Parts: sequence; C-alpha cells; structure tokens
Amino acid sequence: MSDYRLGIDLGGTKIEIAALDSKGDILLRHREANPGTYDALLVKIAEMVQFARAKTSPVATVGIGIPGAIDARTRCVKNANATWLNGKPFGDDLERALGCAVRVENDANCFALSEAIDGAAKGRKIVFGVILGSGVGGGIVVNNEPLTGLHHIAGEWGHIPLPWVRAEEFPMPKCFCGNEGCIERFLCGSALAELWKGPGERSTHGIELAAEQGDAAALKALDIYTERLGRACALVVNMLDPDAIVLGGGVSNLEGLYPRVREVMTRYAITPECNTELLKNMHGDSSGVRGAAWLWG
Ligand SMILES: [Zn+2]
Repeated sequence: MSDYRLGIDLGGTKIEIAALDSKGDILLRHREANPGTYDALLVKIAEMVQFARAKTSPVATVGIGIPGAIDARTRCVKNANATWLNGKPFGDDLERALGCAVRVENDANCFALSEAIDGAAKGRKIVFGVILGSGVGGGIVVNNEPLTGLHHIAGEWGHIPLPWVRAEEFPMPKCFCGNEGCIERFLCGSALAELWKGPGERSTHGIELAAEQGDAAALKALDIYTERLGRACALVVNMLDPDAIVLGGGVSNLEGLYPRVREVMTRYAITPECNTELLKNMHGDSSGVRGAAWLWG
C-alpha cells in the first residue's frame, strides 16, 4: 500500500481533498466548488486526485465521504440530500474515471472514523460519532472500522423518533424521510435556532453569549435542546453502549451543553453509573477528509 492516502469530502456546495501521510499529517489540502451535475463532478474529482497524486505519490489511495450511502444490492447512491446523486453508481463510475479502486463511505461514518483513529476518541473500542448541523448524522466505529450494516444505514440515529417524548412535544414535526418526530427535526442546528428566536431563524451564532448575559430566551432554548440531546444520547447508550460519543457539526461548538447533556444521559441510561464519555471533536472541519483517507486503514 502507498504511504499516502487521499481523502475527499463531497459536500453539497464544495469538494475538498486532503493528502495524509502514514502518521496522519496533512500534506496538502485543496477545495473546489461542487459543479452540481453528475458528469462534471466525476471530471472534477479526477482532476483533484491527479493534482494531489502529482504532489504526493502516483499510487496514493483514494477514499471519499458522501452525504448518503452506496446500496450494496444496486451499487447506487441512496439517501443523499444532493438528490442528483441518488440512483447513480457513483463508486463504480469513479473507479472507472480514476482507473483505481476507490472506497466510498457515508460522511458521518467518515467523521466517526476520523475521531476514533486519531481524534478525540482515539483508543476507544466503540465510538458513536454525531454530526449536529443542517441535518443530524450518526456513524458507528468498532475497533477502528466503520460498522455499516445490512442496508448501510447503521448509526442513522437522526431518523429514530425522539425518545421519552413529552406531551408538549406533540404534534411531532414532520421529517423529509416521511416519518414524524425524528431526532433530526429536534436536534438539527435550525431547530435550536428556532427554539431561540422563532420560526425562520437559521443561525445559532451568538446564542452562548446571549445565555451568558442572562438572555432568558437563549437560556430556555439551550435548556430544552440539551435535555433532548441528553435523552437522544441515552438511547445510543442503551442500544450500543459505546465507550465514547463524539459531537461534531456547528452545535458541537457550544461548550456549555456538554455537562448538562452528560447529566441527562446518565439519568436515562439503564445503568446506575454512566461512564460513556461525551466528547467534542478534535479535527473539526478536517474530520470529513481525514476519515475518508483512513478508509484505507
Ligand atoms: Zn426522518
């Protein structure tokens, strides 16, 4: 195997590539706009790989994280929010375009892998990684390997109903997946923004400062949100019993939520003492490219 691993993070608006050496140091990092159409995307990725290989090694391995999953039966993308990717045999087409083997994985799984291998949860056996952003993603890593499952949906925590639901949480919000009351609808970034400033508000920027200054609406919003996140984490503990849960995405930067989430998680987990670590991610925005690179372990 090559000493160099290329990791690509495919986002809705941008594509990022990084080259890691065998120690995990990033040698180069490059970002381009996502062209937004399928054929142009394949061409763009091939160019980026060629560029990165020219700077590192002509046989550097290629891993890619996508906002969806490859269906094992059809070999096509499903569940991608960039809907033009759905139904396309992306992995096979990319291998043809690059002339080499490519490993494709869900982006939340890449995040969890990055944090488990050499991030906040390094050395832990079972790691659950969560991305709290415009949506809510989850990924499971066991012994430094992503756990994917029969349908490649293991860890899709965002589309389980919020547990231990309260009367005031009805009527349950509808989710794009077709169900009601999904964790994603309660814990995505815009859900916190709406708790704070009402419908239409998209950003949580400034909420922590407002709470520190005693803003009642900010304090209340954070209290409701962290209590729900604690319940949702307790569900993970009861189901998977991980060594660590690592939070990523914009909301994970709110330092104040960690102690309160731990407290609620402990109350709902079915064990007298809950030692599951709740950690902030170490690699931040780099987790996507790093985890994709580590798909070639
Ligand atoms: Zn859903």
